[in-house]
Amino acid sequence: MSQESWTHREHRARLSQNSSFDVAVIGGGVIGCGVALDLQTRGLNVVVLEQTDFAAGTSSRSTKLFHGGIRYLPQFRFHLVSEGLREQRVLARVADYLFEPLEFVVPVYDQLGLADAPAWAATGRRASFILGAGLTLYDLLGGIGRPGERNRRLSKVEVTKAAPRLRSEGLRGGFVYSDAQTDDARLVIALARTAVDHGSVAVNRARATNVTRAGNGFEIEIADQQVRARSVVAATGAFAAPGSSPSSLLLSKGAHVIVAKDEVGLGEHAIVLPKTDDGRVLFIIPWAGHALIGTTDSKYTGSPMHPVVDQADVEYLLEHVARFLEVGPLQALSTFAGLRALADTEAENTATASREHAVREAEPGYFQVAGGKLTTYRRIAAKVADRVARYLSHSAKSRTLQVPLAGAGGGGPDGDALRTRYGTRAEVVREMMRTVAGGGRLLADGRTYLGEVAHAVEHESATTIADFTLRRTRLALLSRDHARSDAPEIGQVMGNALGWTPAERARQLDLHEAELTVEGL
Ligand SMILES: Cc1cc2nc3c(=O)[nH]c(=O)nc-3n(C[C@H](O)[C@H](O)[C@H](O)COP(=O)(O)OP(=O)(O)OC[C@H]3O[C@@H](n4cnc5c(N)ncnc54)[C@H](O)[C@@H]3O)c2cc1C
Repeated sequence: MSQESWTHREHRARLSQNSSFDVAVIGGGVIGCGVALDLQTRGLNVVVLEQTDFAAGTSSRSTKLFHGGIRYLPQFRFHLVSEGLREQRVLARVADYLFEPLEFVVPVYDQLGLADAPAWAATGRRASFILGAGLTLYDLLGGIGRPGERNRRLSKVEVTKAAPRLRSEGLRGGFVYSDAQTDDARLVIALARTAVDHGSVAVNRARATNVTRAGNGFEIEIADQQVRARSVVAATGAFAAPGSSPSSLLLSKGAHVIVAKDEVGLGEHAIVLPKTDDGRVLFIIPWAGHALIGTTDSKYTGSPMHPVVDQADVEYLLEHVARFLEVGPLQALSTFAGLRALADTEAENTATASREHAVREAEPGYFQVAGGKLTTYRRIAAKVADRVARYLSHSAKSRTLQVPLAGAGGGGPDGDALRTRYGTRAEVVREMMRTVAGGGRLLADGRTYLGEVAHAVEHESATTIADFTLRRTRLALLSRDHARSDAPEIGQVMGNALGWTPAERARQLDLHEAELTVEGL
């Protein structure tokens, strides 16, 4: 396990010392970091430039599923489904501690129907038959050796046992099928950390403002300097790649609400609400001790920087929950929204637009990637990296099937908070908890240690309090009041590590408050 540090300051300095790379990757989301890892482990010299923080874009705002996507089956997107399901096997190995198997219960009601199913097949006995056939196809598309059990039919009693709050009127029974979940932000940090362990330079707070051809390569402009690279990959998610127009992407917003698990009677199973007013499915998922409800799917035209969940989104989600579950008034503990950057700009609506990724070579050697799923980041990255390698006449093939992510190798999540976040690297965190003053102190949320703050600065390039409360941990998302009340202490430890003056610490606390507020937290 690498004990090497990864600090913003060091990597910024390395950028100044060596501003010439084989490949510059713009964007530190799951795709950008995945591409960096793939290319670096092929023996190329890679820099990742992220304008705010790693995972600050959609990659910390997803529904956090490693899945094929049951709703893509009736849309006949078998390739997309199969790719995701087959990738689960790889993720369970290379990212074991970030891969948590999860069973989903799908209730079948007499009259309610199934999203995306043709009207003649959407209700009653036919719905059961179609759903059973669809889930069997789902299992088959996943191939042999996929983690989790094959789908099985449930009686009405069994459905009610797994999801006790489901309304029983018209309930015929249902099915259970297997997928998996993760912590998306931690996945991205682990990917970036792994790329760094293999030699990449990875710098947050480095916005690429322009990409221009210079000789045989490119010059990438960031605030106060130029970075040179032989090839460039822009994996900028919902943001336009430097040099291209924002209108080349269709954006859709997906909102989520987090509520207390007890309020929806959630146990170990996730629940699929089989049909929404706009003909989709909704998930209620146990995540980090809470219930995560999502998602909406609506066209978005605002700024991609902080997509917020509005009152209408919350009402839509909670109304649908109340339609299917017997619940009292639900209280949103927090909300978050992510933006899908859909390459399919011709689609009639965002819900039916293709989720496949698209790679465009804006000019020879400058690749722009959009769309795709978190689950298939490795495969997307390998395809992009193949094109970059071909352009650079570099013959090495992708090795990421065999490259464990930082912290992997110690087995799946086992309930220990530190192991769930850091895998085997929890040992590095524990060491810091021992050596940093007060490092072993548990913060008010009851699951975060002060020593993790020092670790985030020293080993995960955190530079602001929100980097810690929103992305290195999910403190602010899971308990915004505690994120606020713990912020001064977090700022103290961070300030010590980063050399903040008292005035700078006060400014950082204000920035933290501002970021939580703009995120609607
Ligand atoms: C609501 C929602 C739910 C989803 N749920 C799932 C799910 O459960 N499972 C699944 O498999 N997939 C899911 N997805 C899809 C998946 O989350 C995304 O496809 C994936 O996170 C996109 O990653 P990315 O790296 O392309 O984009 P991002 O994560 O947005 O990363 C792009 C990065 O580029 C940076 N950037 C932009 N411009 C610049 C610049 N000029 N200079 C430097 N940096 C720049 C941004 O700050 C950002 O950090 C979901 C998507 C949405 C919207």
